[in-house]
Amino acid sequence: MRKLKLAISESVAGLAWKLVYKRRQQDSSFIPILCYHRVLPEFIESENSPIYTVLPEQFEAQMAFLAREGYDSLTLQEFAETARGLKPPKKRSVLVTFDDGYADIHAIARSIARRYDIKLNLFVTTGFIGRPEPLMMTLDGYYFQTAIADRQEKPDALGFHIKKYPHLWRPLNWQEIREMHEDGMGIGLHGHSHRNFARLGPDETEAEIASGQAALKERLGITSEFFAFPYGWHDSYRPETLPLFRRHRVQYLFGTHMGRARLSRLPEILPRFLIYQQDSLDTFERKLRGAYDFIEPLRLFWDRVKRPLLFGA
Ligand SMILES: [Zn+2]
Repeated sequence: MRKLKLAISESVAGLAWKLVYKRRQQDSSFIPILCYHRVLPEFIESENSPIYTVLPEQFEAQMAFLAREGYDSLTLQEFAETARGLKPPKKRSVLVTFDDGYADIHAIARSIARRYDIKLNLFVTTGFIGRPEPLMMTLDGYYFQTAIADRQEKPDALGFHIKKYPHLWRPLNWQEIREMHEDGMGIGLHGHSHRNFARLGPDETEAEIASGQAALKERLGITSEFFAFPYGWHDSYRPETLPLFRRHRVQYLFGTHMGRARLSRLPEILPRFLIYQQDSLDTFERKLRGAYDFIEPLRLFWDRVKRPLLFGA
């Protein structure tokens, strides 16, 4: 079912791309926001492997594409200035973000991006920083792997990968984050302990944001206006808790639903494009140029129609 959905959206996007978007000039009032998680060497043939991983050569091709096509890569701060009208948008702008805060952004992604003058931004899970063990993320939680060797009698491809690259499977430490921040990397929050905010009450929500801000203040001397929800967007937050983010100085919230951000009408939760290992450079280009912008309005429309039909108004 998921594959079918993917195939349908791919063909519609391909068609829309050919018929409409490719002919249109890039509109400076839209900013695509990319969401990466990991840049890891070697494809991991395991059903437990992280799906939002790209290979270094893919990441390099994508950064080279942005540079070649004249994209102005923004820091989170520059994005806010552009959104507030303080900085005029360039013809083509992009915001490149990473979630979670794994060591591979420092070890691999950073030097590749620098080669093409692309600025990166990090949404960091503050409570994970500095832990030496491999961090395993699952669809609804996480755990630290304290003894890799004992994990399985016969480790699968993922186990082998972790064993081979333990330095890429741990979270970043504060020294690495400070170094990247001083180098110009934008820093946002991704919760303190990567909890699903849809399952948190107001007190826990506030505690998560406050702990994150306190850690950034203590370690980097900053407060961040930017927050990306763990576990995407739909079902990952409660609308009634959104004012609590403002109370803790967060002004911009990011999800992972498809579409580019329209500067003149920023939604409450900003869309971001997840970048997958399966993405070809064509798919990457379509994401940047707006060929998938129809999906979110369609989903919202469908939600409005389907819900009353299926469950009564
Ligand atoms: Zn995350």
